[in-house]
Amino acid sequence: MKLWEDKVRRTVPYTPGEQPQGTNLIKLNTNENPYPPAPGVEAVKNTMDTGRLRLYPDPSAGVLVDALAEYYHVGKDQVFVGVGSDDVLSVAFLTFFNSQKPVLFPDITYSFYPVWADIYRIPYETRPLDEDFRIRPQDYYGDNGGIVFPNPNAPTACYESLETVEEILKHNRDVVVIVDEAYIDFAGDGKSALKLLDKYDNLLVVQTFSKSRSMAGLRIGYAMGCPELIRAMNDVKYSINSYTMNLPSLLMGAEAVKDKAYFETCVAKIKATREKTKERLAALGFEFPDSQANFIFAKHPDYEGKELFEALRRQSIFVRYFDKPRIDQYLRITVGTDEQMDVLMKFFEEYMA
Ligand code: PMP
Repeated sequence: MKLWEDKVRRTVPYTPGEQPQGTNLIKLNTNENPYPPAPGVEAVKNTMDTGRLRLYPDPSAGVLVDALAEYYHVGKDQVFVGVGSDDVLSVAFLTFFNSQKPVLFPDITYSFYPVWADIYRIPYETRPLDEDFRIRPQDYYGDNGGIVFPNPNAPTACYESLETVEEILKHNRDVVVIVDEAYIDFAGDGKSALKLLDKYDNLLVVQTFSKSRSMAGLRIGYAMGCPELIRAMNDVKYSINSYTMNLPSLLMGAEAVKDKAYFETCVAKIKATREKTKERLAALGFEFPDSQANFIFAKHPDYEGKELFEALRRQSIFVRYFDKPRIDQYLRITVGTDEQMDVLMKFFEEYMA
């Protein structure tokens, strides 16, 4: 034991999905987009003046904030950007969850939430999803220090209606409610909680470029809320690290937002592949809650989840498996291209023949 050991801030870290290297593999384990980013992003790569890298980037991330504000029809003072939505959520936890009362989130959800709560010493309690993996809004009505949940949820892929989200907001006017919309663009009717922004000054909506905009490698996330919420987040950000967004990310991110047509085409392709994959999985006997995200959370009554996960892995097909209560029979399968899903389904068909 080192003499300084008892002063160290200990924590059990979040385990990110595996990033296997190599070319001959099918990567369906971290909900990335199988298609490249918008063509304008490639153009930035070719035209960017690398001499500008000598300088610090704009700490206010102006070009990107402006592009997002225009796209979503909100004020520039209503947008916060960060290094992936993980960074945005982390700043939001630190900024808004500052109470002795517990923060609430579902028992089955994004496994980073308890990690941030732990490292920032935020008390929290989980609320169980019902047997169909749905959020029960009334579970969130009591006294609490704040609320966070993804919509659609991860890893279940279940989407809750705007009415459900609003019920939770209505009953919690005195705390900040964070709706993590990493997968919202894949939801059927695509109804983002952004529609509720004018009505609720306690609502923070968090989204990302990592999924629907095919830019997980650039690390861009953003939050939208009332100007006071955004100002509070910026105060915390500027108290830790002012220059979070690098220049290439700012320029490429802004270009991606401008190309609505490309974005919509990619999202439509993924949704179409998802619907086909649902049919094929169901035909093989898989069971899954209806997915409104770019992944499907499926189990098979005759096969152990872990067994399937390992068998797939031996064929260099990577999906995500969580060895956790209530979900240890499930595989979380990212929706890839039609060709990738064909390989996956052929594997299942042969394995189960
Ligand atoms: N929220 C949820 C629910 C997620 O699944 C993820 C992806 N791991 C994130 C946030 C973070 O994504 P990113 O940091 O790439 O924006």
